[in-house]
Amino acid sequence: MNKKQILLELQSFGARLDVPVEEHGRCGGAGPSDDKAFMLDGVAAMVPTLGDFAQESPYAVISDDDGKYSITSNGRNVMPVEFVSTPKFYGLKTKNGIPYRQIAVLHGLDVLATTVSQRCIRWRREGERCHFCAIENSLESGATISLKTPEQLAEVAEAAVRLDGVKHMIMTTGTMNYHDMGVNYLIDCTRAIKAIVPDLGIQVQFEPPENLEDMELLYEAGAEAVGIHLESFSQDTRERITPGKAKISIERYFEAFKKAVDIFGRNQVSTYIIVGFGDSEESIVEGCRQIAELGVYPFVVPLRPLMGTPLENVSAPDPQFMERIYRRVAKNNREYDLAYRKSKAGCARCGACSGITAFE
Ligand code: SF4
Repeated sequence: MNKKQILLELQSFGARLDVPVEEHGRCGGAGPSDDKAFMLDGVAAMVPTLGDFAQESPYAVISDDDGKYSITSNGRNVMPVEFVSTPKFYGLKTKNGIPYRQIAVLHGLDVLATTVSQRCIRWRREGERCHFCAIENSLESGATISLKTPEQLAEVAEAAVRLDGVKHMIMTTGTMNYHDMGVNYLIDCTRAIKAIVPDLGIQVQFEPPENLEDMELLYEAGAEAVGIHLESFSQDTRERITPGKAKISIERYFEAFKKAVDIFGRNQVSTYIIVGFGDSEESIVEGCRQIAELGVYPFVVPLRPLMGTPLENVSAPDPQFMERIYRRVAKNNREYDLAYRKSKAGCARCGACSGITAFE
């Protein structure tokens, strides 16, 4: 089995941790979480390790007498693996005693990630919650705080750059209201961070705001990239899986994409496309082609069935299906001159949640 296949199988099936490893994973949160950063040949890949399905995976992590880790498949050693050390900034607290890791965490190899508002207006409203999302679960577990202030984020960002060499930062958020969706608060956060660590690339993720011009203010505040996440090109799938967000039409997302590309440039706007909701290969590939033509980077990921969500018992997509989609989307991306390496900040630059990086 080659390394690409191992990567895709790990991302779909997950892996059991048969030995204790560095404490640098995620549990709950927005979007695809419950994952741990595996370093495979020096490249970070987020691999599910917590859900029931990961416990049934053929893959496991073991260690030898020298403390070196390996991945096994059905008990057979397939490749070495390393884990990112616990970042130094995790040892610090704000002057009010809030641990920095409750404000932001390390993702992949060198990304600082935060969910600015851990509350989402769609999560609590009947019929609006995205079925894959566990955003408020990490609040209940005490792993984070509900709203991070611009000052707290700037303080943690400075420490993460100084102590751990973090290269870029992602601010995602629960949707804060039905008008600007939280974009103006994210602008304040961006400004505060850039005032202290101007060289830290920032990607900001949000739903299309009512006034698309708000994105210009975000650019002026210093954000290099944005993520506006459609998840599926099928309105039926959106109404089933993301019923609240589905009230904003696909056409409106495309308007937001065009405006965002005008402001931030090609390859600096991305969207998560999640495979595993039943959408056909054709619909996914053609949708990704259409947005790539606009200059939007399609960040294709396999569904991560998170614990505590309505999808927790759903199977992750077949790795061979993922491979066909990655190949075709990567080919289209090349035709439109898009590549994860050209992203200045964000999930597209990190790439650890997707296997597409292996195909570009
Ligand atoms: S791709 Fe995005 S969500 Fe995944 S590890 Fe990287 S920064 Fe985090």
